[in-house]
Amino acid sequence: MIPTDAKFNGQVVIVTGASSGIGRACAIHLAGLGAKVVVNYSTNQEEGQKTLDTIKNSGGAGLLVQADVSKEDDVARLFARTIEVFGRLDVLVSNAGLQQDATFLEMTLAQWQKVIDVNLTGQFLCCRQAARQFVAQSKKNNDSSGSQPLSIGKIVLMSSVHDVIPWAGHVNYAASKGGIMMFMRSISQELAPYKIRVNSVSPGAIKTSINKEVWSDPEKYKGLLELIPYRRIGTPEDVAKAVAWLACDDSDYVNGETLYIDGGMTLYPEFADNG
Ligand code: NAD
Repeated sequence: MIPTDAKFNGQVVIVTGASSGIGRACAIHLAGLGAKVVVNYSTNQEEGQKTLDTIKNSGGAGLLVQADVSKEDDVARLFARTIEVFGRLDVLVSNAGLQQDATFLEMTLAQWQKVIDVNLTGQFLCCRQAARQFVAQSKKNNDSSGSQPLSIGKIVLMSSVHDVIPWAGHVNYAASKGGIMMFMRSISQELAPYKIRVNSVSPGAIKTSINKEVWSDPEKYKGLLELIPYRRIGTPEDVAKAVAWLACDDSDYVNGETLYIDGGMTLYPEFADNG
């Protein structure tokens, strides 16, 4: 059972792309901290249901909603269903993302567009919908004067170390994550007066299906570990714990920040013994 004094008790959280990997871990972790979690999936209903079953089997509450985050109508429906069932929204974890890799010379417009549509436009659509909901419900409760001590809503965006590390062969992905950095900082600046907090997490190498091709190949895995000073690959739970901190009131004075969860990958490890 979830203790009644759990950190997110009574709060409603949407996690996009929660049918696998980091999104699934965030959904399960936040539900374990008392949140009612809307588990969004795009195409794989069975895997989305597994996330929800895990939540419910541990005594948590949740809801499964299909939506493609790159489609405006789908996003509107995701939020409308959330409000219909749970009556409010407190946290958005805007996690859904994908890669479509190609060398720059070979990259098609379709590959470029798909990654930008999901990773960047999808974040825009979800964040805008969440912010509108936070303001609307706050006005309804007459508490949007800015005088209340704590945030009226929290947004955590899933970025990547590739918002600062250039990545040849993945320019669509790196451009989308670099875009998230300025998008997040700009909306954070704009929404802070409403008492909405917006931050990002930037994972390094986390063991999920997105990079299976690297960690399942012993040679590539060895090469990967050399890029991580802490010498281990991250787990989805490593990221989920950081997301929970940014989404709760313990981080109430943190706004417009990017938290790197990367075992030191952004510390230029190639320079460690070559100064
Ligand atoms: P993953 O492939 O397991 O998860 C991605 C999720 O996004 C999947 O559940 C997928 O169904 C969902 N998704 C894709 N397109 C969607 C759409 N149009 N609408 C809704 N959902 C959609 O991989 P992951 O590693 O868990 O990735 C989650 C996030 O973490 C992504 O934004 C990714 O860029 C980011 N990230 C991952 C790593 C890593 O090393 N795994 C590192 C940095 C950042």
